[in-house]
Amino acid sequence: MKATNIHTTFDRLLKRADKEALLNQKSCCLWMTGLSGSGKTTIAQGLEKKLHVDGYLTQVLDGDNIRSGINNNLGFSLADREENIRRIAEVTKLYVNSGLITINCFVSPTIDIRNMAKEIIGEADMLEVFVNTPLEVCEARDVKGLYKKARAGEIKNFTGIDSPFEAPVSPAFELKTDNQTVEESVQTLYDFVISKIKLNK
Ligand code: ADP
Repeated sequence: MKATNIHTTFDRLLKRADKEALLNQKSCCLWMTGLSGSGKTTIAQGLEKKLHVDGYLTQVLDGDNIRSGINNNLGFSLADREENIRRIAEVTKLYVNSGLITINCFVSPTIDIRNMAKEIIGEADMLEVFVNTPLEVCEARDVKGLYKKARAGEIKNFTGIDSPFEAPVSPAFELKTDNQTVEESVQTLYDFVISKIKLNK
C-alpha cells in the first residue's frame, strides 16, 4: 500500500550545487549499457581509479553488487527487471544530488528500461555510454561462464541469446572494445568524461 502523510524536506536542504562546489566537480551519471561481458565493469573500475587520482569522487554501481544487496529480492522477469532499474535509478539520483559521479554498469537491455532510468535521473544528468562489443566477442570471453550455460539452456532469457538487446539510438558515447586494450578503452572514455565533470567556475 502506498504511504500517505509524506512531507518531503528537499526545499530546506543544501543544494546540489553547494555539494558540487565542495567537491569541485560537476556530478552526473555515466550509464554503461551493453551485453554481458562487453566490458562495462572492467572499464568502470579503470575509469574510477583514474578519476580518483585526479581528485574526483565517484561511485560505481554494478549489477551483481546491487542484486546481492538492495535488490536481492528481485529476479529476471520483466517486472523484476523494471523494478531493478527503477531502484537503481532512484539510488543514482541520490548520489548525483550529493555531487558524485556515478558509473553505472547494467546490461539494461531495452530502450524502454533505459528511458525509465532517464526519466528518474533526468535526461541531462544521465550520459548513456554504449559498450558496443559484438556478441561473438562477449561469448568468446565468457567471463562468468554464463553464455555457455545460456547455450545449454540452463539460463533462460539471457540477453543476446534468447532475449533481445536493443542498442541505444543516440548514446552520448560509444566504445568499441573488440580491437582495444582495456587501457585504451578506459582512456577513451576518460577523455570524453573529463570535460563533462570539470566544474566551470
Ligand atoms: P561486463 O561488466 O560488461 O559484463 P566485464 O567487464 O565483466 O563485462 O568483462 C569484460 C571482459 O573483457 C574482461 O575479462 C576484460 O578483461 C575483457 N576485455 C578485453 N578487452 C577489453 C576492453 N577493451 N575493454 C573492456 N574489457 C575488455
